[in-house]
Amino acid sequence: MIIVKSPREIEKIRVSGRIVAETLALIKEAVQPGVSTLELDTIAAKNLKKHGATSPFLGYPNSHNRKKPFPGVVCASVNDEIVHGVPNKRPLKEGDIVTIDCGAKYQGWIADSAWTFAVGNVDAEAQRLLDVTEDALYKTIAAAIIGNRTGDVAWATQSVVEAAGYNVIRDHVSHGVGRNLHEDPQILNYGRPGRGLKLRKGLTIALEPMVLVGDYETMLLPDEWTVASSDGKLTAHFEHTIAITENGPEILTKL
Ligand code: MG
Ligand code: MG
Repeated sequence: MIIVKSPREIEKIRVSGRIVAETLALIKEAVQPGVSTLELDTIAAKNLKKHGATSPFLGYPNSHNRKKPFPGVVCASVNDEIVHGVPNKRPLKEGDIVTIDCGAKYQGWIADSAWTFAVGNVDAEAQRLLDVTEDALYKTIAAAIIGNRTGDVAWATQSVVEAAGYNVIRDHVSHGVGRNLHEDPQILNYGRPGRGLKLRKGLTIALEPMVLVGDYETMLLPDEWTVASSDGKLTAHFEHTIAITENGPEILTKL
């Protein structure tokens, strides 16, 4: 079921989105060699608490093992890990890339955003992956206009990524967001122009290209949360929550 939001409801998500953006900005400042993802998780926990917000990820049910709800405030995925990484005490190293996926629930409304950060100086391939994935996010957002279809949005992601020689993830999707973290519609990272559901004013969607340098096959790590590339090659993930308006897409997860 697709839930269209009113301007008042979008304003609520905008407030949550600002909290998310502020949290990711604090994390960006803290990312450096020697810092652990658990320390970054603590920064997020403190900032959400300061605003009276909670994490929609903490305690999220595990579809592989019901006894293992998500233990982190944020998801932290390093290098070949692409999504749903569990924060841990391992220090980040110079040259790593780390994706922090952060959500906030404030007064019942959720916003969701992710960014892949460079840890110190990264090599040219890692930097190119970050640049391509960020570009893919903004091209994906630009396609989220009234009258376009979900296939147009998906193709925007896929075409940018594949033109750069990389692959998009096949088994994870962009999603509606609002009162719940994952709502309809689901939008794949790949698709065909002109296909799928027509986009309407008032849809709020977390658009999230996930990009792999190598093959698009992924694997689940033994913690039963972290998803990594099956060939061990680098991955990146950028996400914004947007609203579809008469004036085009509006990014809600910004300061
Ligand atoms: Mg997210
Ligand atoms: Mg998301």
